[in-house]
Amino acid sequence: HADTAMYHAKNQGRNNCQFYSAGLSRTVYENLMLESALRNAEERGELSLHYQPQFDLTTGRLIGAEALVRWLHPELGSISPAQFIALAEESGQIVKLGEWVVRNTCRQIKQWLNQGLKLERVSVNVSALQIQRGNFADSVGQILRETGLAANFLELEVTESFIIEAEQSFAILDALRQMGVELAIDDFGTSYSSLKYLKRLPIQRLKIDRSFVQDIPNDLNSNAIARAVIAMARSLQLETVAEGIENSQQRDFLMAEGCQCGQGYFFGKPVPVVEFTQLYLAGL
Ligand code: C2E
Ligand code: MG
Ligand code: MG
Ligand code: MG
Repeated sequence: HADTAMYHAKNQGRNNCQFYSAGLSRTVYENLMLESALRNAEERGELSLHYQPQFDLTTGRLIGAEALVRWLHPELGSISPAQFIALAEESGQIVKLGEWVVRNTCRQIKQWLNQGLKLERVSVNVSALQIQRGNFADSVGQILRETGLAANFLELEVTESFIIEAEQSFAILDALRQMGVELAIDDFGTSYSSLKYLKRLPIQRLKIDRSFVQDIPNDLNSNAIARAVIAMARSLQLETVAEGIENSQQRDFLMAEGCQCGQGYFFGKPVPVVEFTQLYLAGL
């Protein structure tokens, strides 16, 4: 059995440090174990979604949320998406996992709307591989039909690296936009995307990466980058969403520069659905 073999290899590695770096073998072993555990995570009910609120910076009004996947393993505890999304991408599981995230988010938005609760949209992270493999646009269309959700309530966040790697996938984004789905570029500024793509892509929003937001207003370079991104977005008629706002100075700076929306611990951490409903939707 592969798992058992890995287990023995790991133990031997520990006893024979001259042959194996314990750190390396542990990582390989853990990754294999996690990857196989992830295959069953959905049916075992270990996956859930947390929602982080997004606000209009000027009016303070709630716009909606970003859905963030969570994995609670019975023995290992909660495993960060930074870890398991990469594994899911390497193993191809991201297609199924990503579909689960889209379906569950759409069901949740529909339920909120049915309860008479008001929100503009909820965004879902989509990995490049998810778009490249499988029929992503068809699958999203199918989910919208089966949940009866109007497409404009769903926003998909794709990363900048996707734009660089996958020019051939632009057609898929076009198809999604045709359906009425909203599109945003996530973590904007962290890769070296060509600006000419920004004009060609059917996107509505840029999300300013947290790494720029976190040093506002003391780091002049971060201020300059945030200012430039907001100005460029405006001239391309795109909205900007700042991520990782942790204090009022950051909020005030971004607002003054014309950034429309924001999210971050200053407003609220990602929370389970019941909490999100109580904290952000029930009073409206
Ligand atoms: P992201 O899409 O850039 O999401 C923002 C991350 O920043 C989230 O981490 C969120 O919890 C965290 N965050 C939000 N506000 C603050 C803040 O004020 N301060 C700090 N320090 N952090 C803040 P999380 O939930 O651990 O997700 C990490 C990444 O994993 C996400 O980055 C996204 O790239 C990926 N991810 C999460 N859920 C999914 C998913 O369903 N599908 C895919 N493909 N990727 C996902
Ligand atoms: Mg995101
Ligand atoms: Mg982001
Ligand atoms: Mg980010």
